Amino acid sequence: MEEPLLLEQNIKTVRRNMAAYPHARLLAATKTVPVEVINEAAVHHGICLIGENRAQELVQKYDALQKDALEIHFIGSLQTNKVKYIADKVSMVHSLDSVKLAQALDAACQKRDRTMDVLIEINIAGEAAKGGVPADELYAFYEALQNYPSLRVKGLMTMGPAGAAAEEYERYFTKTRALFDVFVRDQIPHVADPILSMGMSDSYEIALACGSNLVRIGSALFGKRTYTGHSGI
Ligand SMILES: *Cc1c(COP(=O)(O)O)cnc(C)c1O
Repeated sequence: MEEPLLLEQNIKTVRRNMAAYPHARLLAATKTVPVEVINEAAVHHGICLIGENRAQELVQKYDALQKDALEIHFIGSLQTNKVKYIADKVSMVHSLDSVKLAQALDAACQKRDRTMDVLIEINIAGEAAKGGVPADELYAFYEALQNYPSLRVKGLMTMGPAGAAAEEYERYFTKTRALFDVFVRDQIPHVADPILSMGMSDSYEIALACGSNLVRIGSALFGKRTYTGHSGI
């Protein structure tokens, strides 16, 4: 984990690299990052949006998080039996990719009398081992979501292929952007600021150039993770 000075440097560097895209938001991906470091980033360095990956980890951190300074999103793959732990703790779920999950999330939100902003995760590279809806199933999936009135679809998210070469990232991000543009036009024209969540530490500059308006950045802010958990990232 980085020293406070490095954290400050890292945040400055990322912000500088994002400066040409003032409409794009920075989400700090905080899996494995201790609460004290997250709070330091929030209180002293203006980080106001974080994304957690694991329900258990979010529950453990939640009470100590500086919540008045932070918006919290859920960005990891989510099992239906974990939905109840996060439904009252996050304002957006980036990883909606199955009807089963939509049903569980909708039920949990109804119970709590709230709505939930969601992004549909797209498996843009068609990777078998990865979550996400295949691009050609997006419209059918969106149609199915109409049965779950607590969920508000705000846009799309993609991971892109892990550790890809720059040209490969560019190819998949360009594809996702094109899909996003027609999806927004055809299906969610009423959404005021539709979100395209793509780009991580090794790809956010490419993603921004391809039209991402929300980048999820972990290691470039907090240093390399020594433990990555079961998400495989
Ligand atoms: C960990 C994670 C990130 C950030 O990854 P880095 O390579 O550390 O920037 C972004 N999105 C998701 C869904 C993640 O799990």
